[in-house]
Amino acid sequence: MKLVHSAEELQSLLAAHRTARETIGFVPTMGALHEGHAALLRQSKRENSVTVLSIFVNPTQFGPNEDFSRYPRTLESDCEIARREGVSYVFAPDVNEMYPDGFSTYVEVEGVTEPLCGKFRPGHFRGVTTVVYRLFSLVQPTVAYFGQKDLQQCLVIQRMVKDLLLPLRVEIAPTVRETDGLALSSRNRYLSAEEREKALVIFRAMREVKRALAAGERSVSALLARASAEMANTPDFQVQYAEILSLPDLKEISRVEGPAAFAVAGFMGKTRLIDNILLNEAAPSA
Ligand code: AMP
Repeated sequence: MKLVHSAEELQSLLAAHRTARETIGFVPTMGALHEGHAALLRQSKRENSVTVLSIFVNPTQFGPNEDFSRYPRTLESDCEIARREGVSYVFAPDVNEMYPDGFSTYVEVEGVTEPLCGKFRPGHFRGVTTVVYRLFSLVQPTVAYFGQKDLQQCLVIQRMVKDLLLPLRVEIAPTVRETDGLALSSRNRYLSAEEREKALVIFRAMREVKRALAAGERSVSALLARASAEMANTPDFQVQYAEILSLPDLKEISRVEGPAAFAVAGFMGKTRLIDNILLNEAAPSA
């Protein structure tokens, strides 16, 4: 495992692999690695000759009142995990490397960026697509790996790759959860023990929706009513959104008939949590 800070160095290291016709798997992250990230690294390692992990807390995807400055930065232990998982290169640039003086080009995806997190985090996806585009240009991966935990982000990246004809494949890996159902997140470390317990309300709401759907309920308003009733039992969880939208375009629907997702976001204390489940798997076939 080699730790690289310079974009130029990374490019020349990877050029040699490309000349040797080796495949490059790429896992972009903001660090503070956990088992969810490790699963992406393992998949990349299984499927490629070379695995690149990037660790960059990207300032342009944080709003002015968000947690950019307090976001956990744990490069040393991240590198240990990378070594253990057989990562070839850890790319950990500083802000000037990703946004050098004079930087003024942004990538903006319309449509799929607008609902859900797009409503509550203006500019967030513009920051994500801009940095991911730049990382893709640097790494030129064969495949890039993303987690379903950030479903809207996956759909936005897929849209960008398609629209801009980027020569790579995007793989989406399932959400890794604690045994009690809480989705792993770097932000979980902000939670107190009590908040951590209460955060399970998200999983319970998702389970309610899945159960009702399996029992034949297809009305979105009825499914959401089940979720709201469950979440009302934990008023400390301040819901930002709980929505059922179609996939892959994230449009409003009144009934679950085709591919769809139930997505939730909200605050547990000061910590913003998101999660989602796919409903198409659970939906009875027509
Ligand atoms: P982050 O460091 O939070 O920006 O996440 C980096 C990548 O890891 C993104 O593609 C996330 O969707 C993915 N990821 C984060 N948490 C999980 C999880 N619990 N399960 C699977 N993938 C995850």
